[in-house]
Amino acid sequence: MSTCIVKTDGLTKTYHGVNALHNLSITLEAGKIYGLIGQNGAGKTTLMRLIAGLGFPTTGSIQLFGHTGERALQNERKRLGCMIEYPSIVPNLTAKENLKLHRIMRGIPNIDVEDELLAFVGLSDTGKKKAKDFSLGMKQRLGIAVALISNPELLILDEPINGLDPLGVVEIRNLLKRLCEERQITILISSHNLPELYQTATDYIIIHKGEIKQTLTLTQLEGCCKHHLLISCELPEQLVSVLETQLHTTNYKVMPNKSVELYDYLDSKEHVSNVLYENGIIVTNLTNEGDTLEDYFISLVGGGRNV
Ligand code: ATP
Repeated sequence: MSTCIVKTDGLTKTYHGVNALHNLSITLEAGKIYGLIGQNGAGKTTLMRLIAGLGFPTTGSIQLFGHTGERALQNERKRLGCMIEYPSIVPNLTAKENLKLHRIMRGIPNIDVEDELLAFVGLSDTGKKKAKDFSLGMKQRLGIAVALISNPELLILDEPINGLDPLGVVEIRNLLKRLCEERQITILISSHNLPELYQTATDYIIIHKGEIKQTLTLTQLEGCCKHHLLISCELPEQLVSVLETQLHTTNYKVMPNKSVELYDYLDSKEHVSNVLYENGIIVTNLTNEGDTLEDYFISLVGGGRNV
């Protein structure tokens, strides 16, 4: 049975009479990477702040590692690391000095953790360079190292890939996957950009105007975006005959350009390919087609802003 790391129940946070979060209930299980996706102002930071204890809910409750109640939560929060809004780094210090500062502030005696973490996030060679001279990606990686200083079981990262170039995104993605695989850390990571976070997370929580719109696994997300198999060949008449007689489906449409959209067998492309081949159909194209992640996200939250 999977272990529940975080459970929120009917979480509501109101600022000046306006709900930043409304009746939000989610469960985060151990060893997964959760992508928290929502437009600007959706409530991502607010949720993360409440879980991390940087704010209090107006109503509703939070359970951490199976414990509830403010006193117990305070204790359990020692088991989480976070980077919310900005990396907690001092610009005039080097990467190592930043880690030393946080190690001492957290009362961690093990000096070796500084070099271990620098190596883990790929900043071992930054020497005397001050954090203010780091690239955005380096700053984000240093921020993650700071969040990891107390060896947390839950890591909360607010928009760590926002503004990074594609290489920076890949670096953070690989880092998070290693954290999950090598250290079995549960990760909650937010972004306003679904495609940017695609494949970083194992599970997605889509939040809109303070409410959960949908929670789904990576496989389900991919399934939601798949619409049809697009098949092209020289002889579409023969193709549809094979679809009907061999694959027993009439769930297809012949398009004006003579390609065929097949709405069944979305997860069995190889099977379709084999059956067509065995029946003498020379296929020139066979691809899964559908919504882009962006289209899908917009269809859920109903608007094109910030995606
Ligand atoms: P972004 O991607 O822009 O960071 P977000 O999804 O993290 O957005 P939040 O920062 O959680 O969204 O904000 C949710 C809503 O709550 C917004 O309408 C915001 O204006 C409001 N809000 C957040 N913090 C405060 C605050 N301290 N005082 C008043 N309103 C706030």
